[in-house]
Amino acid sequence: MSDHEPDLPEDSGSNASPDPSSRVVIPDVLHSFYEERPFVSCTRCGESLKDFAEGFRISKSFKGDEVILESAMCMPCMAAMMDETSDESKLRLEEFHEKHYRDVSGFDECALCENTLDQVKDDEFNLVGVCQGNDMLDSALICFDCQEAMNEIISEETRRTWERFRQENFPGVPSDFEPMPTRPAPISF
Ligand SMILES: [Zn+2]
Ligand SMILES: [Zn+2]
Repeated sequence: MSDHEPDLPEDSGSNASPDPSSRVVIPDVLHSFYEERPFVSCTRCGESLKDFAEGFRISKSFKGDEVILESAMCMPCMAAMMDETSDESKLRLEEFHEKHYRDVSGFDECALCENTLDQVKDDEFNLVGVCQGNDMLDSALICFDCQEAMNEIISEETRRTWERFRQENFPGVPSDFEPMPTRPAPISF
């Protein structure tokens, strides 16, 4: 029996837990592709993710079926990155999110526009999960168009800062790649 593994992470939810909250076990699609297991440590500081009571954020970018970047960041590291973001950029991103944020969770539809996963799955897209321990509290799909739109509204200074942040923390990542297209903002806690 052990040779039969379900391919679709969504299907593994058949053992639906009676938990009244929307907590689910972190789906396979948000596991580390490179490590072939769930993320265990923060991509930036290396600390054990389970030790962060406030949780952590997994971000995986795909181009079609291919994983082009993945990261798991503890909240203090997310905050550190936001500290490096200019006030102007923060404000613009906040406005953008307020204007576009749709009250949808999950990976079926973009959190910021009406694109569906079906429509964008052959292109680049980003999956984000807010997690705590082994559980995922919230999730979002951000399509390429929305990533691009956000890239355009941030300041040159912020773009450079983020680029430096990426180079320092994610060595080996192609320089044209945007690992942090979104802030935690589209996801409500
Ligand atoms: Zn960290
Ligand atoms: Zn979108």
